[in-house]
Amino acid sequence: MNKWVYMFKEADNNKNLFGGKGANLAEMTKLDLPIPQGFIVTTEACTEYYKNEKTMSDEVVNQIKSSLAELEKISGKKFGDTENPLLVSVRSGARVSMPGMMDTVLNLGLTDVAVEGLAKKTGNERFAYDSYRRFIQMFSDVVMEIPKHSFEKLIDELKKEKNVEFDTQLDANDLKELVKRFKALYQKELNSEFPQDPETQLLEAVKAVFRSWMNPRAIVYRRMNDFPSDWGTAVNVQMMVFGNMGDTSGTGVAFTRNPSTGEAGIYGEYLINAQGEDVVAGIRTPNPITQLEQDMPEVFKQFMDISNQLEKHYRDMQDMEFTVENGKLYFLQTRNGKRTADAALRIAVELVKEGMITEKEAVLRVEPKQLDQLLHPMFDPKALKEAKPIGKALPASPGAATGKVYFTAEDAKNAADRGEQVILTRLETSPEDIEGMAAARGILTVRGGMTSHAAVVARGMGTCCVSGCGEIKINEEEKTFTLDGKTFKEGDYISLDGSTGNIYGEQIKTVDPEITGNFEIFMKWADGYRTLKVRTNADTPHDAQNGVHFGAEGIGLCRTEHMFFEEDRILKMRKMIVAKEEEERVKALNDLLPMQKGDFVGIYEAMQERPVTVRLLDPPLHEFLPHTEEDIKHLANEMSISFEELNSTIEGLHEFNPMMGHRGCRLSVSYPEIAKMQSTAIIQAALQVKKEKGYNIIPEIMIPLVGDKKEFQYVSNIVKKAADEEIAKSGQELKYLVGTMIEVPRAAIVADKIAEEAEFFSFGTNDLTQMTFGFSRDDAGKFLEDYYEKGIYESDPFARLDQEGVGELVKMAVEKGRATRPNIKLGICGEHGGDPSTVEFCYKVGLDYVSCSPFRVPIARLAAAQAAILYAK
Ligand code: PEP
Ligand code: MG
Repeated sequence: MNKWVYMFKEADNNKNLFGGKGANLAEMTKLDLPIPQGFIVTTEACTEYYKNEKTMSDEVVNQIKSSLAELEKISGKKFGDTENPLLVSVRSGARVSMPGMMDTVLNLGLTDVAVEGLAKKTGNERFAYDSYRRFIQMFSDVVMEIPKHSFEKLIDELKKEKNVEFDTQLDANDLKELVKRFKALYQKELNSEFPQDPETQLLEAVKAVFRSWMNPRAIVYRRMNDFPSDWGTAVNVQMMVFGNMGDTSGTGVAFTRNPSTGEAGIYGEYLINAQGEDVVAGIRTPNPITQLEQDMPEVFKQFMDISNQLEKHYRDMQDMEFTVENGKLYFLQTRNGKRTADAALRIAVELVKEGMITEKEAVLRVEPKQLDQLLHPMFDPKALKEAKPIGKALPASPGAATGKVYFTAEDAKNAADRGEQVILTRLETSPEDIEGMAAARGILTVRGGMTSHAAVVARGMGTCCVSGCGEIKINEEEKTFTLDGKTFKEGDYISLDGSTGNIYGEQIKTVDPEITGNFEIFMKWADGYRTLKVRTNADTPHDAQNGVHFGAEGIGLCRTEHMFFEEDRILKMRKMIVAKEEEERVKALNDLLPMQKGDFVGIYEAMQERPVTVRLLDPPLHEFLPHTEEDIKHLANEMSISFEELNSTIEGLHEFNPMMGHRGCRLSVSYPEIAKMQSTAIIQAALQVKKEKGYNIIPEIMIPLVGDKKEFQYVSNIVKKAADEEIAKSGQELKYLVGTMIEVPRAAIVADKIAEEAEFFSFGTNDLTQMTFGFSRDDAGKFLEDYYEKGIYESDPFARLDQEGVGELVKMAVEKGRATRPNIKLGICGEHGGDPSTVEFCYKVGLDYVSCSPFRVPIARLAAAQAAILYAK
């Protein structure tokens, strides 16, 4: 018999089996801390549930029942009892915390009979019926999918009848009436009575939590964070304790260090006479945790002792939930707290200084992707000084955001998809808003504290968030809000400072970030472990400098095409394309040569002696020509040729599948003059910078889209001839390399042959993914959503390398390439080069470097350091 259900005291810290929450509850039980006891239904039971077409086996059911019996024994309470009923919370708990993404049911166990028992036991009838009506509402919503708002409507109706404004003004009899109406609604919607058997309630709730593992927001969250769906979630069934039993009760959330800044010292908030969800949902604005010292000094002392103990035990900043029931403190959970990147770095560095962890451990403590938060623009200090805040609220998640206001997650996402910078403005956010929050530059909420959903999720995503601005009068239906006497409507600009909480009614200029302080110290530690080199993809001296600023050790890909779009060049480029004879084409190319040389001089100067890989022209030529009739006419005029002539050239260049068309090295096969001009420019520039600055430059000339050795050879001969001529003419010495991209599957398959000629390979995994899957890079986004939704793919293969398929081709090419040419230089320059899981893969298959956009360089550096620590050979 398999064991599917464990009492807290039987479990251990195996997060894969018990989930993060369960493993920590087990550990806290071992530490003898005041934990409401309970049991864990394992993640294996969840995956089993899905394997069995969403049914729970008798074995699991029976084990839940016997664990429940055990819990009754431990608590001295009985499920559904008329004197002292046991109530439980049923919560999800995946391997890693996914705040707010899955479902929770509280107060489970209440029935018409048990509610009387609870009233008797607590001497508080109002409390008992309030708990019951909350439970019916939550159970109906989470387990039976009856929308919450149908219940809220009933509350509003009753309040109107009773002529009161707030829920708290409803008395015990009113709440009894409400329970009656809730149950009637349940009966009407489902054609069955609200379950009066607590065991049935429990089994249904456990299944609902399992199902919530596959709800759309959890799927999106996993995709954003690269978590696979086969992990499943555990379910924690825990005895309820009540923070809403009066003024000696309360509930709160606290961190052992500030999750926004990382500053040491307790940080958090709580509410007197409330249930946990009230704090997290942000409906009431809570008190700072320090006030607990005045309200309940004894409890505060015990609370502080335990939180210090937990931080020392887990050797990391803890995020804890606690409840005080009639003066007695309980810890409901603890976990390593989510934190901003700034805080993550400060905490990692300070924990090393405090002697709690080693440098190596510190390097593993920060998620590479999280650094992204620090690599985005900040407000320009001068512009910020001149701006006047129109409001202030809680600095819930730091950073600077400027953008247009949108009032729903959907509108925000659509606007962001159109390329707008968006500030999502809501009364409060809920987990359904996840995609809108992810798409937004900043989030502004009217309600909610530092631990509200908006704050927690925004910090996790690294999105700037200002929360709890009570001064805002918002009208979500009309999509407007008023602050400081000014009304803002959809599309108006505002700016948010997530570090101060300031709100500005205007656009504010932003500037690029710097790597200093803790960030710098931390990156030095990381680089100490790293063996894989990190280069940047850069097409201009500015990008190149930016890359170096972020620690790039070379350029892995300099795409040359965009250089031709500049105003003074595009006409010459077009003349070259339209040319009928080689002579005419060569003339146009000769006009372009000095400009192209100038580009490379700038790049070499920025990179000094770091290696630079320049790729020959790649896109199909029609991309440089206009398409509308008006533009064609205009160009024909400028070029002094007839409209018909130009139009027929454009039509002649039309391709049905341009992505698989006349591009890459195929262009050089048809028009060798292009490769010749570019090679001449690359070499002339290197010679010039070598002479003027004394830098020992070794240009790497890269031929794109090769699929055959002879094809490579043909273009490489042109390159070498041009290069050697220039070197000979100069009388200087210069070494250079000619290599290829591995972008078509055939190139990977015959890599051993290509390596006979090519001196380096750079994996162009954008095209390699496109051609391996047969998905157009330009169109796949439209249908990949369906693949995620249906669980066929979990992540975008254009963002995270498909290791099983495309990765196998990479591996094969590495092995074959090295077999022919043991010292062949190997790198990756597709978009995947900045994705941490791909960087880890590149380390494992033994590439020499990864190359990514300048802003992702620190992410790749950290991912490479972590790979070296975890998988050192
Ligand atoms: C690639 O295909 O991975 C690549 C880097 O080239 P491009 O994106 O320019 O096609
Ligand atoms: Mg490519």
